[in-house]
Amino acid sequence: MKTQKKLAAGTGGSIVVDRCQVCDSPELESILFLGYLPPVNTMPVIGTPLTEQPAYPAELLCCKNCTLAQLGLIVDPAILFPPSYPYTSGTTRILRENFAELSREVDSLYPLKPKQLIVDIGSNDGTLLSNFQKDGVRVFGIEPTNAAKLAVERGIPSMISFFNSQVAEKAAAEQGKAQIVTATNVFAHIEDIHDIVDGILTLLGDDGIFISESHYFRSLLETLQYDTIYHEHLRYYTLTSLKNLLEMHGLEVIHAKRIPTHGGSIRVYAARKNRHPVQASVTRILNDEKREVTPAAFAKFKRAVVSSKLGLLALLKDIKSRDQRIYGIGAPSRASTLINYVGLDNGILDCVLEIKGSYKTGKYVPGTIIPVLDETRLFSDQPEYALLLSWHIADELIPKLTERGFKGRYIVPLPGPRVQ
Ligand SMILES: [Zn+2]
Repeated sequence: MKTQKKLAAGTGGSIVVDRCQVCDSPELESILFLGYLPPVNTMPVIGTPLTEQPAYPAELLCCKNCTLAQLGLIVDPAILFPPSYPYTSGTTRILRENFAELSREVDSLYPLKPKQLIVDIGSNDGTLLSNFQKDGVRVFGIEPTNAAKLAVERGIPSMISFFNSQVAEKAAAEQGKAQIVTATNVFAHIEDIHDIVDGILTLLGDDGIFISESHYFRSLLETLQYDTIYHEHLRYYTLTSLKNLLEMHGLEVIHAKRIPTHGGSIRVYAARKNRHPVQASVTRILNDEKREVTPAAFAKFKRAVVSSKLGLLALLKDIKSRDQRIYGIGAPSRASTLINYVGLDNGILDCVLEIKGSYKTGKYVPGTIIPVLDETRLFSDQPEYALLLSWHIADELIPKLTERGFKGRYIVPLPGPRVQ
């Protein structure tokens, strides 16, 4: 399979993407440039002397040939995921509900029989697989972090390893072929994507079904989720670009649907050609994308991103001119992009609050000296405003924080800044 020859992994630096990461075309069009961003997990401890910090250009490109959206620079994973990078179990309610819904959908569309095997790539603590562990179905997880140990404790057999085609051969030799292979939130992160798909084919039985879930590029465009652009996310998929990738490996997309995780994702079912009927959902979504994912839509997106930044700054200026306090709520990776792109500093945002036990507490937000503090400060200090940095789950957060006693107002920064 054709792959990008030079990998960033092992370079200790970064490589420029001058050909499409999937189809190798040199025709890459710039959609948006967010400036130079620091790695989202580089967070100095509060009070340590400030030293130099790397920053990497964050430019979103779109391949004119296969429509894959991708970052213009790939950073060595050793920089993005340093050994200190901790595993956080953070399985949110929306994620747990999504995995339960996935298992119900599989039960109705492509039910597993006793003794058949389902393998989850990037299986984390086994939450997805636990839904399938019934009726004699065999489950197996492959996961690079120590979360795999939690899964094993829960009775879900798991291998601690990064996934690649060699690991797939080893797993297939030990476990046999899988009827279903799942990979949620994996396709955006791993550099050598063709090797991943090769590995999936190695694991997959002849009539087997591969199910992927990826953050959906159309949702990114629709709700201005530019803050999901950071260097851990190398690629941003539409069904069209995923279909192109899978077809390069002889896989056919047989069903697809939009799901709510991560602010909007797409679940895609694929199988070897002519093994399963192709459902109407596939053509429907592909047609929607032809209409909506266009150069005109990219230009509109760019204007809207700039306008949302200026709108947020105007709103914050108004609040600061009244000498009122603004605390950020939550320091997810996406907060780092928003804070750095909009240019927030500790004169604007007094602090950012994280839940109890977060490894980010006691550190600075990357690229700034905005301190990350314990969330109980929200209730003891009662700042006038709380800026929701996990704004995509604002509907879940606001009632919770109000119930716990926060009396101030909320700022939802995106898609358009609003106070409520
Ligand atoms: Zn391409």
